[in-house]
Amino acid sequence: MCGIVGYLGNKEAFPILIKGLHRLEYRGYDSAGVALLNASGELNVYKTKGKVKNLEDYCKGKDISGTVGIAHTRWATHGEPNDVNAHPHYSQSENLALIHNGIIENYATLKELLIREGYTFKSETDTEVFVQVIEYVKKKFNLDLYGAVNRALTYVIGAYAIGIIEKNNPNILIAARKGSPLIVGIGKDEFFLGSDASPIVEFTKNVIYIGDEEVVKIERGQQVVINNLKDEIITPEVSQLELDLSEIEKGGFPHFMLKEIFEQPKSLGMCMNGRVSFDELEIKLRGITDNIDRFRKARRILITACGTSWHAGLIGKYLFEEFCHIPVSIEVASEFRYRKPVIYSDDILIPISQSGETADTLAAMDLARQNGAFIYGICNVVGSSIARGTDSGTYTHAGPEIGVASTKAFTTQVTVLIMMALAIGKELGTINHEKYHEIVKELINIPSKIKLILDKAPEIENISKVFTYAKNFLYLGRGYNYPVALEGALKLKEISYIHAEGYPAAEMKHGPIALIDEEMPIVVVAPKLDLYDKIVSNVQEVKARKGRIIAIVTEGDIEVSKVADYCIEVPDTEECLTPILTSIPLQLLSYYVATVKGKNVDQPRNLAKSVTVE
Ligand code: GLU
Repeated sequence: MCGIVGYLGNKEAFPILIKGLHRLEYRGYDSAGVALLNASGELNVYKTKGKVKNLEDYCKGKDISGTVGIAHTRWATHGEPNDVNAHPHYSQSENLALIHNGIIENYATLKELLIREGYTFKSETDTEVFVQVIEYVKKKFNLDLYGAVNRALTYVIGAYAIGIIEKNNPNILIAARKGSPLIVGIGKDEFFLGSDASPIVEFTKNVIYIGDEEVVKIERGQQVVINNLKDEIITPEVSQLELDLSEIEKGGFPHFMLKEIFEQPKSLGMCMNGRVSFDELEIKLRGITDNIDRFRKARRILITACGTSWHAGLIGKYLFEEFCHIPVSIEVASEFRYRKPVIYSDDILIPISQSGETADTLAAMDLARQNGAFIYGICNVVGSSIARGTDSGTYTHAGPEIGVASTKAFTTQVTVLIMMALAIGKELGTINHEKYHEIVKELINIPSKIKLILDKAPEIENISKVFTYAKNFLYLGRGYNYPVALEGALKLKEISYIHAEGYPAAEMKHGPIALIDEEMPIVVVAPKLDLYDKIVSNVQEVKARKGRIIAIVTEGDIEVSKVADYCIEVPDTEECLTPILTSIPLQLLSYYVATVKGKNVDQPRNLAKSVTVE
């Protein structure tokens, strides 16, 4: 949520900052702004409501010179998206300009205090309070900018990633983070700042991942200096970005979401690479083999996540219980963290997050750690907070996901959970040998089966056109495909703004059946599995009430196809692998419904990628 970009070097900062904002726009797009320090030492701030494009237009004809600057694309938390609330925010004297990702929880108290000290405020944001606190302590204690930021951070409570520059001080850019991600790029005589690697990778592959509660001093011609909030000096560790520019570009697709849907055969391949042995039909996960004793002695597995990752986690519950015989409890992270949950030291917590920065999931992870649980993380972004804060884990290696509606992140998370369940089950002897090899063999075939489904995109697009009239959708599934129904409904509402609900198919009788009439589209996820006959009955119940059925079925299906209005076939596979296949047509269905309705699928209203605020 929210994109931060900064530059200090010998090139003109503006084009680099604008390009960076475009790359970060998926993280927030309600307003954007830039602050630049020109050669005369003037600090110019330009900001506007709306997309980065609006900012570019707004800046035409203005003084956009300067070799140091900061820029921001906002996802509003405090104050509506408008020009005034957009970042950067000036301090009272207009000597400082700040960009911020996160929430300052005690902003109201600090604001009152500052008002008593004679400060006035232009915006409704918590961020403006933050910059005023920095100016206040700077003056009061006669500090330089670095000292003032360090001091001010002892006053604020909440989460932040910030970048700040100062009038007449073109050699310094200060940044800090607590809770929200931040990366510094090191080029030749130049430095970059980013919420993630996307605005940096084009210029340098050398980066420093700023740790939590750390403050960074970037100074022209000097080494980066880092200290933590306890005032200890931290030795910067330079890592190499393993990211290719082409991975964060659309590559000929009209939207990132469609590109990412079509990338799934490849991303699953990358996810399995080096972990699934094609010759031996074995799963090799270091994180599991190295820690198998923890799993052997585990009292329970607790899975915690938000949104789409939570749906993947639900599938994880089915997998771990079936193949590892370990009881699993799965919970939305925002509830788990505040619910005073019982956590034992022999529990294993699995946090799942695409970005590895999801605020609630991180907090849940901290809580489990305090209680002595073993933490095994699943995330996509290398070097993210979850990756660094866990005892062990597995990356999904899906490649960057830019589309706000998650697609390849979901299928790779499910793939990781499958590999984990198989690896643990084999070590614990809770999965039958033959079954194990059959599933591994089938897993290897999954990417080519996804390709077959993707070939049906035109057919799915035609079905989508029929249903753009709908105001509501119901999604039904059972067993492994119940979470797929939830995920399908989430996808549709995220990008088309059509209300959609996912339900366990048999639960329909306990309420949602009342909604069904001849207008209501019902998507039934009904591959031919153990519970097939049961779901056939559920489909009949819908038909008896004249609902319009779109069914996801196994190739050659007879029973459901007789009753459904539209069928989309997926190849046959092992039951536990069906969610990977059945979720693909649902992704395409929502994509096409939304695009036919003219919605911006990559930047749906009110949403943003990577939820770094709670
Ligand atoms: N809380 C700040 C605001 O509402 C920052 C939001 C963001 O992370 O974009 O302006």
